[in-house]
Amino acid sequence: MSLKIYNTISREKEEFKPVTPEHVGMYVCGPTVYSDVHLGNCRTFISFDIIYRYLTNLGYKVRYVRNITDAGHLEGDRDEGDDKFSKIARLQQVEPMEIVQKYTLGFHHVMQLFNNLPPSIEPTATGHIAEQIEMTKHIIANGYAYEVNGTIYFDVEKYSKEQPYGILTNRKLEDLLEGTRELGGQDEKRGRLDFALWIKASPEHLMQWPSPWGMGFPGWHIECSAMSEKYLGKKFDIHGGGMDLAATHHTNEIAQSQACNHTSPANYWMHTNMLTVNGTRMSKSLGNGFLPEELFTGNHPLLEKAYSPMTTRFFMLQTHYRSTLDFSNEALQASEKGFKRLWEAYEVLKKFTIINNDAAAKDVELNAKCLQIIAAFDENMNDDFNTAKVLANMFELVPLINSIKDGLIPADALASSTLILMQQKFKAYIEEVFGLTDEFNLSDGKLSGVMELLIDIRKEAKSKKDFATSDKIRNQLTAIGINLKDEKDGGVSWSV
Ligand code: AMP
Ligand code: ZN
Repeated sequence: MSLKIYNTISREKEEFKPVTPEHVGMYVCGPTVYSDVHLGNCRTFISFDIIYRYLTNLGYKVRYVRNITDAGHLEGDRDEGDDKFSKIARLQQVEPMEIVQKYTLGFHHVMQLFNNLPPSIEPTATGHIAEQIEMTKHIIANGYAYEVNGTIYFDVEKYSKEQPYGILTNRKLEDLLEGTRELGGQDEKRGRLDFALWIKASPEHLMQWPSPWGMGFPGWHIECSAMSEKYLGKKFDIHGGGMDLAATHHTNEIAQSQACNHTSPANYWMHTNMLTVNGTRMSKSLGNGFLPEELFTGNHPLLEKAYSPMTTRFFMLQTHYRSTLDFSNEALQASEKGFKRLWEAYEVLKKFTIINNDAAAKDVELNAKCLQIIAAFDENMNDDFNTAKVLANMFELVPLINSIKDGLIPADALASSTLILMQQKFKAYIEEVFGLTDEFNLSDGKLSGVMELLIDIRKEAKSKKDFATSDKIRNQLTAIGINLKDEKDGGVSWSV
């Protein structure tokens, strides 16, 4: 059973074959740190965190590089507008690096709250100016770029005479040209699709560096080409990012690497689909972005309540990364319930004690069905990381786990080896691959101890007909989200 990855470039699921056996090099375009990351950005980074975790879980030694864009990202995709960092720095009268520091720290904090693992290397554009200048020089020397008054442009027309330019999104040059405006009289580019590798800085521009072409700053696309080559080599395995990056940023990255190194940088191009709000892409520029903090506090006019980081992560896992995901209160509420139900079953499963490791199944049919569902976890994950289907597989097993707990199905209906496998697979997927954590503290011994004590005090109060105390315990627990349930057998259970 091998891993298949949907490759944007071939528009097909392809068997994954790493450049170097047992190793994976993965580059993901990181955030542009001039403002807070919104939930849409988080969806992309959570998706790649799961891909990173799964590849590691499969036994690959993964080098995961995710950059920080802290220079060179202009407001428009095609070299128009101001530099995003300089603009905000000027407005707030601070150093551009203060903007970069503030939002980089904020980004790391959010990634931690979502339990995303840090990448192996997190290079910054400003830390790799020399590499970007070198690559630009190489592209000029190979004849694919030209200088106009201190700015260096990539010559798309020349490139596209020799090899296709828009292959990533399957667009012909004529169609791409149609989508861009005519060059104005002031425009110094030779062709409408040409893009800047290096941009001449006006004296007042806040971030600028010396180069063979005078003072300037790098274009946005060259940053990722130079840094991915430095840390992963000229040809690596996976290049990822949000779908919105494919048409321009990644298309230009491919052109730059081809022009410089005569090879496309990555074998597999992976793109996550967009998080939408009422069908419209969540984006910083449209102003419809939810900040993670707004979600965690419930402090947003469109939110009915707060949702925790793990509920949000679970919500994202319930949809395949290549499908759009629409953000709504109903969907989040359903995820909150689903996540709790799954975690409760997981806690029950963990507590099943296996007395005889070799015990055979008493219900052979049920045992076989159970094994088939467990095997589907890996099959679905190997099918282009289908987290949504793996969760559905887990939910197929939840009623069985609960029935064993309630004594409706005897535990020995299943072979001991099946129960052990189920415990191992739930742990591997829920905690290691999906990166979900025990937000309910269900496995925390201290909370269980406190709950036992409260349940005892309530029982005593009831027996003395002190209903004021017993009601107070129940109501105050309900208010903080812990529910008590009086069972038929006289016992009391609790859930969060
Ligand atoms: P940026 O900080 O704008 O450069 O974006 C960082 C990453 O988030 C990129 O990979 C984008 O493609 C991705 N992204 C931006 N908006 C969304 C969205 N609404 N849904 C999913 N990913 C997004
Ligand atoms: Zn990039």
